[in-house]
Amino acid sequence: MRNALGLMLASVVSAVVIAAVWFWTSSPRADAAPQTVAARKAEPLPAPAAAKPKVDVEVTASISKPAVPTPPPAPVAAKSVCANPDALGVSRTVIIDTTGGPGFGFLQYKQFDFLADKEVVLTFDDGPWPTTPTVLKTLADECTKAVFFPIGKHTTYHPEILKQVFAAGHTIGSHTWSHAHLDSKKMTEAQAKEEIEKGFSAVKMAIGAAPAPFFRFPALAHTQATKDYLGGRNIAMFSCDIDSNDFKSSSPDQVIQNVMTKLDKQGKGVILMHDLQKHTAIALPTLLRRLKAGGYKVVQMKAREQLETLPEYDAMLVKDLKVPAVASRPIGSVVQTVQD
Ligand SMILES: [Zn+2]
Repeated sequence: MRNALGLMLASVVSAVVIAAVWFWTSSPRADAAPQTVAARKAEPLPAPAAAKPKVDVEVTASISKPAVPTPPPAPVAAKSVCANPDALGVSRTVIIDTTGGPGFGFLQYKQFDFLADKEVVLTFDDGPWPTTPTVLKTLADECTKAVFFPIGKHTTYHPEILKQVFAAGHTIGSHTWSHAHLDSKKMTEAQAKEEIEKGFSAVKMAIGAAPAPFFRFPALAHTQATKDYLGGRNIAMFSCDIDSNDFKSSSPDQVIQNVMTKLDKQGKGVILMHDLQKHTAIALPTLLRRLKAGGYKVVQMKAREQLETLPEYDAMLVKDLKVPAVASRPIGSVVQTVQD
């Protein structure tokens, strides 16, 4: 009886204990379960949330370093430049191996017929000049690219403008130091060499990077000796197929007319223009629209390797200019406002 009673009591106690345990465990669980689920769901959230600020902190910390400036420029610039869905654009880019000094432009060099029907190459001589930014804006609006042949002296007058040409991704060659005609009888071999080399050194000094080994003779006036020299330096020579004759044109309309008439007849080619000509800068938006409407496509020419300028001409240029370098110091370090 006692045993039975004890057994009963024990059963009751254990039942109560079990019930209590169940109640204790299940009821908190009932409360905890959604909390736990919520907490578990919430847990992964705080984790990345906690990780994100970490990343942000890292990015923020590196804002002053090159990390932030480096990624945006290339893709952002390319995307923002190509906002025009009807742009003329660039249909293809060709890389030129300039070994031995190949010639382009069938007016003088009938070597490499690389353009297909309706393909053109846009080229601009004689800059950089205050008219050049207008040309750059038009090219950017049409998401297209050109080859520039600047005059060395002009690059020393307007290095910032040539920097804009470079920053916009155009190809930059050279058009001599002072636009001297290299076929002149008075021109010695040493002078011709200096015209060529100092022109390239001036471009390098202005943009802070090696220029493309692309060269155009002023007035397209070449000699066998200068062509041989360029060949030995592995510099490509550019003539043209379509001369805009813009320096002789009396109006922007005439520039457009000159180009389109020749182009519609020849069907393709390297177009020669001058970014220093006001008529050309004004004509360009309409001209590029006409090219687009006529089904013409722009080919961008780039060099496989950039030109190594000759140190003696770099030095000669620095000496001539009597300054350490055109833009080696930021303006703020030279000129400081102390009182407004
Ligand atoms: Zn010229």
